[in-house]
Amino acid sequence: MKKLLLLLFVAIIQVTSAQETLDLNYYLPQNITYDPNIPKPSDVIGHEVGEWHVTHDKLMFYMQTLAKASDRITIENRGETYEGRPILLLTVTSPKNHANLEQIRQSHIALTDNNGNTAALDNMPIVVYQGFSIHGNEPSGANAGLAYAYYLAAAQGPAIEELLDQEIILMDPSFNPDGLQRFAYWANTNKSKNLNPDGNEREYHEVWPGGRTNHYWFDMNRDWLPVQLPESRARIESFHKWMPNILTDHHEMGTNSSFFFQPGEPTRVHPLTPKINQELTAEIGTYHAKALDKIGSFYYSEENYDDYYYGKGSTYPDVQGSIGILFEQGSSRGHIQESDNGLLTFPFTIRNQFTTALSTIEAAKNMRTKILSYQRDFYKDTRANAAKSKTKAIVFGDSKDANKAWHLAEILKRQKIKFHELSNDATINGISYKKGNSYVIPMDQKNNRLIQAMFEKRTSFTDSLFYDISGWTFPMAFNVDYSELSSLTNAGPEITDFNPLAGGADAMSNYAYLFEWNEYYTPKALNTILNKGIRAKVAKAPFSVEGKQYDYGTIMVPVQNQELDAKALYDFLNEVAQESRLKITGVGTGLTKGIDLGSNDFDPIKKQEVAILVGDGISPYDAGEIWHLFDQRYDMKITKIDTEYFSRVDLSRYTAIIVPSARGSLDKKIAEKIKEWVKNGGTAIGYKNSVEWFNKNELIKLTLKKDSLLAKNISFEQKEKFFGAQETGGAIFEAKLDRSHPINFGYKNNTLPMFRDTNVYIEPAKESYNNPIQYTNTPLLSGYISEENLKLLKNSVPFQVNRMGQGRVIVLTDNTNFRAFWYGTNKLLMNAIFFGQSM
Ligand SMILES: [Zn+2]
Repeated sequence: MKKLLLLLFVAIIQVTSAQETLDLNYYLPQNITYDPNIPKPSDVIGHEVGEWHVTHDKLMFYMQTLAKASDRITIENRGETYEGRPILLLTVTSPKNHANLEQIRQSHIALTDNNGNTAALDNMPIVVYQGFSIHGNEPSGANAGLAYAYYLAAAQGPAIEELLDQEIILMDPSFNPDGLQRFAYWANTNKSKNLNPDGNEREYHEVWPGGRTNHYWFDMNRDWLPVQLPESRARIESFHKWMPNILTDHHEMGTNSSFFFQPGEPTRVHPLTPKINQELTAEIGTYHAKALDKIGSFYYSEENYDDYYYGKGSTYPDVQGSIGILFEQGSSRGHIQESDNGLLTFPFTIRNQFTTALSTIEAAKNMRTKILSYQRDFYKDTRANAAKSKTKAIVFGDSKDANKAWHLAEILKRQKIKFHELSNDATINGISYKKGNSYVIPMDQKNNRLIQAMFEKRTSFTDSLFYDISGWTFPMAFNVDYSELSSLTNAGPEITDFNPLAGGADAMSNYAYLFEWNEYYTPKALNTILNKGIRAKVAKAPFSVEGKQYDYGTIMVPVQNQELDAKALYDFLNEVAQESRLKITGVGTGLTKGIDLGSNDFDPIKKQEVAILVGDGISPYDAGEIWHLFDQRYDMKITKIDTEYFSRVDLSRYTAIIVPSARGSLDKKIAEKIKEWVKNGGTAIGYKNSVEWFNKNELIKLTLKKDSLLAKNISFEQKEKFFGAQETGGAIFEAKLDRSHPINFGYKNNTLPMFRDTNVYIEPAKESYNNPIQYTNTPLLSGYISEENLKLLKNSVPFQVNRMGQGRVIVLTDNTNFRAFWYGTNKLLMNAIFFGQSM
């Protein structure tokens, strides 16, 4: 024991002294000189790299200072995060290249176009995009950026000069500014003078929701393809502007791990990624290995991580002639932590990231022409295949929801995929497409593979393990109609001027106004109307009036007996329609075919006041998606109530409370409180894993289907893979809809693709009218699910509602708001909120 204590004492002394003597030389290559006119990080931010966790504002201040001091660096601000932080990018290259930068860029882009086939590669610089800490609480990357940028600016001698002549380095110092700031605050405020490596120390246990995510708790490293968030939008713009040859993404993993670099698992690469891509990744890997050997750091590759979902930073480039590389460093989380590999210090983790940032540009220099020709050949092949493709175009649209289709087109626009107007209204494969609500994508274009990556359906796989989702077919996520075309006859002019759609109220009425519920922004409009104190009702049956058909869920606003007079009401609704980009129709009579406007089949709709349970026990991703949907899309107020003080809150002011997916079980007292409130007229909505908790606490009575899977002929070694294969990481399934049920108002088709990433399966209710959403007999549309789980899923139901006292309890096993790009099912949640009382 004494010996152990002594050993520990020695270790702590060493740690402390390592911190005291910490200086920049710990990171930098030592055999070269550095320009004394370039300010070191500590000169600017007031502490050594690795001594404290750099906050985003200090990081930006250093980069700006560096750009001023160095003729190798320029800096640009590409926008701001939700919290108003700048999204900066450094361009680093020789002063000579800087003087000629736009010319270099154009020649580089030409390499991927037809006219680049003959370009000489001998003097063409290679483009490397290096990004850091997209997960804010994986900070070694962003902190390494301080030393790395200093090195690029200050290192002297022919080696670095030659390198900068041959490379354009795009350095993105912080992929996730808001998350980095949040984590730096946590780690720094908990730091002790005597660094404490005890894993129980608070410093290593961030409070909910942690710094991994951005402001609305999104995992930013899943948004490279859907581009719904401001940070990704800036980044993807830079990507297409430069078409980098290599893109690196510096992360952290568990404290007991060493260092990982790609390639990952060879069987888990997306089939659209060429084989050579992985071979080049492996060759680049030899540079990382050599550099890490030199400083004595351990590492591994070809394990754990996959290269499958194109929404991740290290996979996204692979479908565009570029090479994406994932780095994962075992995390010290705070400043120092005990680990299986001894004491893991923050500076040590920073040094590994710094070292591989350097080995990346070393590899890029040595493999320059090889990688440039790979990119050229990639586009040559893509063009050749695109020209041969039997499918000449894809048409997509929604004849009743122009905005949803517009938002899918917006993604194409951001991904530099060309698309056209639909020339005329047309019926294709039995589906009617409306001009203005539909778009045509020609397949014969440069980004053909990216189109495939977005639109393809895949249901067979070489592996059954997925690091992330296995299905993301975009037209299904948007629930738009789409068809493959064998010619371009339906294509009108290419859309180059792409603006948000216009809305408005067509004419003033003295009787009533109507709008169907299908358009994407109708919940925003309805919410504004109700907040103004205007009465509105919802139609529980279809009808037609003045020559126009109106479907289930049509909203009716009467003119008489309102707070506003007829003229003021028209002006108000006209403004609402413009802001929500929809059309509102005034009618002069209540006499219709079908239900008359005075019928009891129009239900009054209550003004909504919605709360959401957040905090410990709740999945921050699911909660953040809902918060974002309300706040950013629909401009609806939503009150976030923390599980920590939920029991002390008076709930009487709320009309609906959402319980996002729970991690494990929530406090029983929360369930009791919700139950009392429901009985008095509230609508409680439970998602995904919370459905089990609702059931257990008798908020609803469900029969859940369970698998009885037993391992047979599975060895100990195969155990992980066996259970992994039973996970539903995220795939798309077809459900059939009873469109007369209020949960389905605003849906025009009888089927709906739904996204699910849980294994909660509900038996259908005995009465068929209580199963308005039910999976079909062959539900798998796209993605992976095990045979056993598919059996459970068939004909089960993702939705149930229970009447309790005056209120309703609603459960949904699927994620209707997945990662801000599942536009197709957002309306289910809005229906639960606005029409819950009609169910
Ligand atoms: Zn990460």
